[in-house]
Amino acid sequence: MKIEQQLIDSDKYKVKCPYSMEPIGICIHNTANDASAQSEINYMKSNNNSVSFHIAIDNSKAIQAIPFNRNTWHAGDGSKGKGNRKYISIEICYSKSGGDKFIKAEKNAAKVTAQLLKKYGWTTSAVKKHQDFSNKYCPHRTLDMGWSRFVNMVKKEYNGNSNDNVYRVRKSWADESSQVGAYSVLANAIKKCDEHKGYSVFNGNGKKVYPKSVTMYRVRKKWSDESSQIGAFKELDNAIELCDKNKGKGYSVFDNDGLVVYSA
Ligand SMILES: [Zn+2]
Repeated sequence: MKIEQQLIDSDKYKVKCPYSMEPIGICIHNTANDASAQSEINYMKSNNNSVSFHIAIDNSKAIQAIPFNRNTWHAGDGSKGKGNRKYISIEICYSKSGGDKFIKAEKNAAKVTAQLLKKYGWTTSAVKKHQDFSNKYCPHRTLDMGWSRFVNMVKKEYNGNSNDNVYRVRKSWADESSQVGAYSVLANAIKKCDEHKGYSVFNGNGKKVYPKSVTMYRVRKKWSDESSQIGAFKELDNAIELCDKNKGKGYSVFDNDGLVVYSA
């Protein structure tokens, strides 16, 4: 889902987002009123209260007003609070009356939350509720309907279909629990991968894309018959040359996956 940027003027930073921030997660709120995302953003930007949030989401739009590298005043845990100083804040609109508009807004919020998890390489454990920081019963309607239900919505959006363009950093494709991050940008996945010994980057189909194994061309009779190997080369030409030298003896050149690339 597109996050529309309507960033606040920097002369309002001192009221709305005075501190720079390196976010560690996402905090979910409900607005407890029936205003649209646009109205929420307009109101927040126009007043001089130390109340702010990064994104407002309704049934059709997600609007961001504050850069993710600035803090917002949303969590009620004070000027040094973790919620206020480390979390990206999302307001879900139309929570007072609920109904279809809220259902759609919440679904959109799950989408945006999943996008941000991927952007930063977080898992759903980085998704918090306002209540986690200051005991306020917020996001009230989301809580009424079930918090774990919402987290599952995020999970579903996060996992998407298997052919998505998400790069997962894991020990092996099969070992989901080893995952240390999932990214929409390959370079970010590679960076994370380099921090963890023995990890690889896999695309949505489970194909290992990093680190790239060096292609070796092996000259054997059969792929399964390792003992028949008479040579292994990085250059295909060299493998073909050896294969040709042994013409008539049943040798072929195999790639890393055991596929025949040349037979004499
Ligand atoms: Zn709240």
